[in-house]
Amino acid sequence: MGLAERILQGDIRAAARLMKEVDDQIPSAVQELKKLYPHTGRAYVLGITGSPGVGKSTLTDKLITAFRAEGKKVGVLAIDPTSPFTGGAILGDRIRMQSHATDPGVFIRSLATRGAMGGLSKSTNAMAHILDAMGMDIVLIETVGVGQDEVDIFKTAQTAVVVTVPGLGDDVQAIKAGILEIAHIFVVNKADREGADRTVAELTMMLDLGHYGERDWRPMIIKAEALRGVGIEDLLEAISRHRAYLSRGPGLVTHRLERARVEFLEILRDMLAGRVLEGLEAQGRLEQIIAQLAAKETDPYSVAEEVLKERLRG
Ligand code: GDP
Repeated sequence: MGLAERILQGDIRAAARLMKEVDDQIPSAVQELKKLYPHTGRAYVLGITGSPGVGKSTLTDKLITAFRAEGKKVGVLAIDPTSPFTGGAILGDRIRMQSHATDPGVFIRSLATRGAMGGLSKSTNAMAHILDAMGMDIVLIETVGVGQDEVDIFKTAQTAVVVTVPGLGDDVQAIKAGILEIAHIFVVNKADREGADRTVAELTMMLDLGHYGERDWRPMIIKAEALRGVGIEDLLEAISRHRAYLSRGPGLVTHRLERARVEFLEILRDMLAGRVLEGLEAQGRLEQIIAQLAAKETDPYSVAEEVLKERLRG
């Protein structure tokens, strides 16, 4: 039986293996992803973002427990911006989520930020498809919300949660504008610390200015103490309210269309660039072109046009 078939039967080892192949960019992985794609779209994708240390993994850990209590299977993708070299193992996450390590209904995977162009959001999509196809009810994607890649990743979530903490007034500003605008729920975590109410007030004011939230969904603000499990019920309630809101209107369909569009364009761009570069490198022309450009013998616009024309003809 192939990897895809095994994954569709919920085989955890097959899923882990395909994820590794996606990570290593092994060409045959794409064949498996093709087989999985028609079976995806069932899982609910939840995005959790916020600066390092705000309590995302503590919160994720509690959410996993809560979802498991409801009998839901949970896949977690933790995007690790700090380790391009380690293969993305986040020690902290691993430790904090270890209580779920032996639970077959939970699958946690870290992804390192890749240097490759646009690679991160593409491979995150692939990983999310694998978790979806293997039967996870919830796919939780955790990011720190900095680069454009992360904004794209955050957009794949049906419900997007931004986590912040008291006393980090600038923190909210530090989160990329693109992320604030698509947030559906704000969590003010570490509410045991001083200033939680002020942070809630600041967020409320920001929302009152009306720049955030989509059409008729006003983002909800939840106070939490993830460490003690306080506020988790409220967060779950907010998530299901947003989910219900989406299913009542055109939200889910719109989201699915948008997600398909973004993913397709990304894969197309990536494939096109890959093919063109492959050709240039095979002919040893890339270095030649670069030398000519540096010597100002030609310009990058003309060369790019020329190379594309050749390739599209070929
Ligand atoms: P992440 O980097 O956003 O994933 O944050 P972590 O989940 O690793 O949490 C960072 C630190 O904050 C850890 O030491 C947690 O124990 C602590 N923490 C998490 N939630 C709370 C909370 O509600 N109150 C307090 N005081 N500390 C918390």
